[in-house]
Amino acid sequence: MSREEDLRATICEVGRRLYQRGYVASNDGNISVRLDDGRLLATPTAVSKGFMTPDMMVVTDLSGTKLSGERTASSELKMHLAVYQLRPDVQAVVHAHPPLSTGFAVAGIPLDRAVLAEVITTLGSVPIADYATPSTAELPDAVSKYVRAHDGILLANHGALTCGADLMGAYYKMETIEHFAHISLVARLLGRERVLSREEVDRLQGLRTSYGIASPAPICATPSGATASAGPVACQVVQAPSSPGGARLLDLPAGIPDGNAEIRLTYRALTTLIADAVRQLT
Ligand SMILES: [Zn+2]
Repeated sequence: MSREEDLRATICEVGRRLYQRGYVASNDGNISVRLDDGRLLATPTAVSKGFMTPDMMVVTDLSGTKLSGERTASSELKMHLAVYQLRPDVQAVVHAHPPLSTGFAVAGIPLDRAVLAEVITTLGSVPIADYATPSTAELPDAVSKYVRAHDGILLANHGALTCGADLMGAYYKMETIEHFAHISLVARLLGRERVLSREEVDRLQGLRTSYGIASPAPICATPSGATASAGPVACQVVQAPSSPGGARLLDLPAGIPDGNAEIRLTYRALTTLIADAVRQLT
């Protein structure tokens, strides 16, 4: 199997997984990969990504002009082009509308709390790019602001975008974001999140090199692929407390008002709180 045949087949596999996991509905989503220095292989428009065949792919140049293929590339390819332009290290881009991550993007809540070690090591924080009308030039502009520092981005009121050193790597980052969104939602429904300390976050970030993760992400330094002329790198850092210790609780339990508002506790809840406080003091 030639490299191109292999990439065409892998795009179909990624599309199947996006569809089976409910990350896309109808004909949503798009996937692309670098064929060589000047050409991309991209998914076609108006096709369910769960039922693609290798012959459906479109070959374009780096400005999105079609070079071969019977179908038309997605109009959202513009967003992918911006990523390839700014990140020479990126080989593949995946865009989908996973419901939980997209829920955070609709609520305007970035996935930037330091709660999961794997996410800190692989993706860092996941910022939200400003809302832009899909398929317009505004969307690549919104993505450009963050993609030099992040491999995973939420798109306000739209979905999510990930990139990586190969197709499956970019796809797995989409899985990680959706899994992170799911766990974050459950923790917030339960009323609290135990956030890792800044020291632990620094330690996890230090492990990135030993895992062979060269891409940027949580650290707001200029990534290797970015040029000096590209301007400052926009980055939303991982939120972690600066106090020492393994972890601490963030947020009040749901339902308990902040400030000077009156709160009501049962006798049992009150004695538990006092016992916890005494235990921490001793
Ligand atoms: Zn979309």
